[in-house]
Amino acid sequence: MQFPAGYLDHLKQAPGFDVESFQSAHSDKVPVSVRIHPRKPAFKTENLEQVKWCKEGFYLPQRPDFTLDPIFHAGAYYVQEASSMSIQKALEDQFGSERNLRILDLCAAPGGKSTLLASWLNGNGLLVANEVIKPRASILKENLDRWGFTNVVVSNNDPRQFGKLEGFFDVIVVDAPCSGSGMFRKDPEAMKHWSEDAVAHCSARQERILEDVWPALKPGGLLLYSTCSYSESEDEQISQWIAEDLEAEILKSVSLDEIPEIIKTSGGYRFYPNKTKGEGYYLSILRKLEEGEDFEERLKLKNMPLPDALGDLLEAPDEYHMYETHLGQILFPKASIEGLASIMKHLHVLKVGTLAGELKGKSFVPDHELAMSLVLDVTVPRLELSKEEALRFLKKEALPNRFGSQGWHLMQFEGLSLGWGNVLPNRINNGLPKSWRILKDIGV
Ligand code: SAM
Repeated sequence: MQFPAGYLDHLKQAPGFDVESFQSAHSDKVPVSVRIHPRKPAFKTENLEQVKWCKEGFYLPQRPDFTLDPIFHAGAYYVQEASSMSIQKALEDQFGSERNLRILDLCAAPGGKSTLLASWLNGNGLLVANEVIKPRASILKENLDRWGFTNVVVSNNDPRQFGKLEGFFDVIVVDAPCSGSGMFRKDPEAMKHWSEDAVAHCSARQERILEDVWPALKPGGLLLYSTCSYSESEDEQISQWIAEDLEAEILKSVSLDEIPEIIKTSGGYRFYPNKTKGEGYYLSILRKLEEGEDFEERLKLKNMPLPDALGDLLEAPDEYHMYETHLGQILFPKASIEGLASIMKHLHVLKVGTLAGELKGKSFVPDHELAMSLVLDVTVPRLELSKEEALRFLKKEALPNRFGSQGWHLMQFEGLSLGWGNVLPNRINNGLPKSWRILKDIGV
């Protein structure tokens, strides 16, 4: 297959991209798959290979003439590319058996995801299937008519118009218009329209669509964002943009995580034709943050339990949260946490609260910021140094152990902490950061 100029180079850096097997998969036969209707059981599935990520999905050994099959017209099955059936697992993982949900399928024609969503709701809740392009909306309606569920609305609107239905939907599916590289094997004609400019245009349109529809998703609601493009600017970068600018948390799907052929990335799941049996696809699962939730989730500051070894060092361990940040594990007072999200979003921060230290194997190595902080308990072991020892410590020299005890101790002078020393049987290793040390000759 002759790919467009610059195409393989463009994908070189994409997560999980393996140029040789990718190219060779494009000479393979395109798998044919169908998804059966759970309530119109006429399609025979014996001896058919099941799609790993959708219990109603099956591969056919060859492509029959569906037009000549009456049960196709009766809605017994829908012909759907296999990778895109993975939204079923994503939904099951998030909602278990809960089905009383309002779902919007925003870019729905011809109806692959919508018929899957209708099957999954199985008559419960509400499905709004929307398509902005009128003739395509008619095809969508016909496919949903054939699928037969009554809890379905089909609409023909621009995404902007959904903004007025504020917080209405529990789930929004945005199977976005994209540059379509994932479909080149199935539809080589589509290659004619591919260019880097087209990718950039799609990426901007994807953001516009998502921004327009975002108000309609209720806080805490689920967004399934997908494309059939391999370009990071339409995939992971859009997920990142949703997480940061629209305020959402990128979720994992336990079931999809278990399927080794699916590539897991920072934004979600990639399906490559050389790895999974299906066409190219990207799926990202996101949860809209709730009011006031932004600190922990959006900045990926994961509130974590204080390790016992740290709790024992603090005067009032209950007053602090511990967070994993880009700086390391920090302690921050619970009472001052409000507003910290905005600070961290807009500023380039060098310090947030107090760096606590890290667990190395079973032992906790305390950070220098902790030694200098006011949060430590009086019971923390400490050694009072002479002035000469204190200056040697501040030059970052190892000191002889004239004290006898062992382990991490505060090295203090006149009752004030200078830093940590790791006391060994015959010497004290100096925990002062290199950049803090006195460089001047101090005459000791
Ligand atoms: N979800 C469909 C399915 O599973 O069968 C496929 C959807 S297709 C990838 C993307 C859809 O987005 C197309 O039907 C296209 O008409 C629609 N679309 C194009 N431009 C749009 C826009 N600006 N806003 C919303 N939808 C758009």
